[in-house]
Amino acid sequence: MIFDLDANATYAPSESLQALVQRAWVRLGNPSSLHRGGQRAKAAVEEARESVRALIGAGPKDQVVFTSGATEANNTVIASATRAATHVVSSTVEHPCVLGPLRVASENGTEVALVSPTTHGEVTVDSVAAALRYHTQLVSIMAANNETGAVNDVKAITRVVRANAPKALVHTDAAQVFGKLAITFAQLAVDCLTLSGHKLGALTGVGALVIREGVHLTPLIRGGPQEAKLRGGTENVLGIISLGVAASAILQEGAERGRAMQAVRDTFERELLRSISKCEVNGASVARLPNTSNVFISGVRADDLLVALDLEGIYVSSGAACSSGKPEPSHVLSAMGQPEERVRSSLRFSFRADQSPELGANVAQKVARNVERIRAQLQ
Ligand code: PLP
Repeated sequence: MIFDLDANATYAPSESLQALVQRAWVRLGNPSSLHRGGQRAKAAVEEARESVRALIGAGPKDQVVFTSGATEANNTVIASATRAATHVVSSTVEHPCVLGPLRVASENGTEVALVSPTTHGEVTVDSVAAALRYHTQLVSIMAANNETGAVNDVKAITRVVRANAPKALVHTDAAQVFGKLAITFAQLAVDCLTLSGHKLGALTGVGALVIREGVHLTPLIRGGPQEAKLRGGTENVLGIISLGVAASAILQEGAERGRAMQAVRDTFERELLRSISKCEVNGASVARLPNTSNVFISGVRADDLLVALDLEGIYVSSGAACSSGKPEPSHVLSAMGQPEERVRSSLRFSFRADQSPELGANVAQKVARNVERIRAQLQ
């Protein structure tokens, strides 16, 4: 039996979604083709666009541009907004697909101010306000962190940016929030927002960049006129369909989805903290995604525990999925000022809405048994 507690890496698609995608496979052509197969594909892409628009609460004139994922959406915004920028603001806990293009901008002469989070992992409005200049051209702060689940008050951040840096483009990487929190594009009032398909139950390799009406970006990928000339290349039709279906399913589930995730997560944490000594939840005191638990277990190296749990069929993550395989410690926990011992002994458990609180308790007991064994070997 597999316990997939790595939903923040990929929220595996439901069986019904997989079946739907397989059926779609045989009847769709290239959306740019004029024959019926092509037109069916085009209609399916547009239907998916409306489903995404509905999920995120974007207006009819806001643009939803399909991309290959959050990485491409973030690169598009940052490359476009930093082409002629002298000053931009972001944070040290952003995903590498934000920090990477910002590094390129910095090498090209843009001043990049990276705000540090608190020791609990959130990026505060005050810290962003302090980094702003009147002429700041881009502010990019993630809506929720993939490793700790810490949720940032992007709405308040946007407000402070509008008041103090009126020319700045405001972007948020919201790859982790949809399907977990009830947040909308309209509420956040940002100019651009990134989302990732496979974090919310769609296939891997699809995502979207949402652009407010009237905001102009230059494309990162140039080619054909697809996606309103903002993203060249034949669309990933199946991925896009899967994103539309996943978005509709999330809308239908409503608040129950977040509540279900939180019930598993909270039961897991209660049982874990009861069973393991010298164990703490990183960032427990701030607003967190309802499914995410980043746990420090003193004296136990996260990678040793990860391998032991894998042998029991329990999938978890140390650091971001994209960087696992690399021995470097989490840049997020390090940026929070946590000592290296704590960083190397922290693991992320991220739950799904279709898991039960009993599963949470069961997994916590299995983790406790493994921790006991690893600690005994060290003595
Ligand atoms: N941004 C955040 C916050 C993420 O968690 C991830 C993936 O872990 C990404 C961006 C990259 O997403 P994608 O795999 O869709 O490129």
